[in-house]
Amino acid sequence: MMKALLGPAEIRDLAELLDLQPTKKLGQNFVIDANTVRRIVQTADVTGESPVVEIGPGLGSLTLGLLETGAPVVAVEIDPRLAEQLPKTVAQMQPGADLTVVQHDAMTIMELPRHPSTLVANLPYNVSVPVLLHFLEHFPYITSGLVMVQAEVGQRLAATPGSKVYGSPSVKAAWYGHWRTAGLVSRHVFWPVPNVDSILVGFRLRDEPLGTEEERRATFELVDAAFGQRRKMLRQSLSGVLGGSAAASERLEAAGIAPTQRGEQLTVDDFLAVARAA
Ligand code: SAM
Repeated sequence: MMKALLGPAEIRDLAELLDLQPTKKLGQNFVIDANTVRRIVQTADVTGESPVVEIGPGLGSLTLGLLETGAPVVAVEIDPRLAEQLPKTVAQMQPGADLTVVQHDAMTIMELPRHPSTLVANLPYNVSVPVLLHFLEHFPYITSGLVMVQAEVGQRLAATPGSKVYGSPSVKAAWYGHWRTAGLVSRHVFWPVPNVDSILVGFRLRDEPLGTEEERRATFELVDAAFGQRRKMLRQSLSGVLGGSAAASERLEAAGIAPTQRGEQLTVDDFLAVARAA
């Protein structure tokens, strides 16, 4: 079979060609293992029919795996050297593959070409949650995806109420859909080797939004307040945003939530009920 993916030797050659010193600031840890790439593509269920968006394609390890299925790929990369090289790498290794590279900060991008329905990414670790939430908020045509993130972050995204790691990212992620962890990934499949372990996290988004945009904002404000002081009872942790603890108790009761509960016990529907009880 044609060698269409990047291994350690190809990554080394590309890094040399670009005189690249991977930076921690941009979370630049590149996958050097073709088996990991194929595992991500298979778990993401990319079939080649619908367009895929990739955040942070880097040197193209995962991009080539996605393109190998025949799927058109839109890749958003902040680093201009990497964004410029990627089409050349793809033209050489998979001529004719359907790739659009957008050089932009994924935290602030407001439009994507081709309205991709699937998001697949090995996310830059320092900004993984805000980047993900930005995409879910602004690109409603995304219906499912798979991301690789730091293990603790992935467990948090997929956590349910009552779990120790359930927090603000868990509730916000649940606003958009259903999340599941899909297996740990060794730190040794990356160059440079990061000092954290990674995990795959899959998601399927709701067909209909849980509430309006205004309700989402109000819900997220409550979530941030509740988990900002997660050990406190809700009547205290929400007092700042609801105008005092008496008003907070009243609102919680109107939503059918005991004011003595803590944020970590509430589902996203509970938080939305509190927002709606205004
Ligand atoms: N996908 C590649 C792979 O698996 O080998 C690279 C993954 S690396 C963990 C993260 C990539 O995201 C890097 O290429 C980095 O330059 C890029 N990146 C970092 N911050 C970004 C941002 N705000 N917007 C877009 N890309 C970003």
